Amino acid sequence: IHNNVAIAEMPPGLGGEGYFATSLESVVGLARKNSLWPLPFATSCCGIEFMATMASHYDLGRFGAERMGFTPRQCDLLMVMGTISKKMAPVLRQVYLQMAEPRWVLAVGACASSGGIFDSYSVLQGIDQVIPVDVYVPGCPPRPEAILDGILRIQDLVHAESLRRRNSEHYKALLNSYGIQ
Ligand code: SF4
Repeated sequence: IHNNVAIAEMPPGLGGEGYFATSLESVVGLARKNSLWPLPFATSCCGIEFMATMASHYDLGRFGAERMGFTPRQCDLLMVMGTISKKMAPVLRQVYLQMAEPRWVLAVGACASSGGIFDSYSVLQGIDQVIPVDVYVPGCPPRPEAILDGILRIQDLVHAESLRRRNSEHYKALLNSYGIQ
């Protein structure tokens, strides 16, 4: 413990007696990763597993992400859980576009990741056909531990790219490939 902050949680920097120097990006990333505001875009059974993840036993609140938002303008993590039909795809994309940068996307379960068992004319074969995805969580449905693991991986990304993501050429190229400016 250093100044009441766990060492493992401290951003890389220069520590000393009574002071700690680091970069602004590390501090912003540390704060942002521990205060994610998820938007649960749940359409079917994986959404039920998410409810278990939120409840007291698994307690998503331990990771600072218990404040669900249902307006995209306030959220920075889009969690897509369930089967997405092709008719629903434009709605999902619209929700994504309404989120401000920086934003991250978690595909929870086989349906969101690849269409799952629904290899059908009416089902989107993975949400990455319409929006970029940062982390995929496998499973049908994934257990709450797997969903939590996905959020921890998102947290690593958030910590690492909190400020620079918007300006990175790689990210701009990724958005361009989806027709997003
Ligand atoms: Fe349901 Fe399985 Fe699809 Fe999740 S991955 S929405 S549990 S069918």
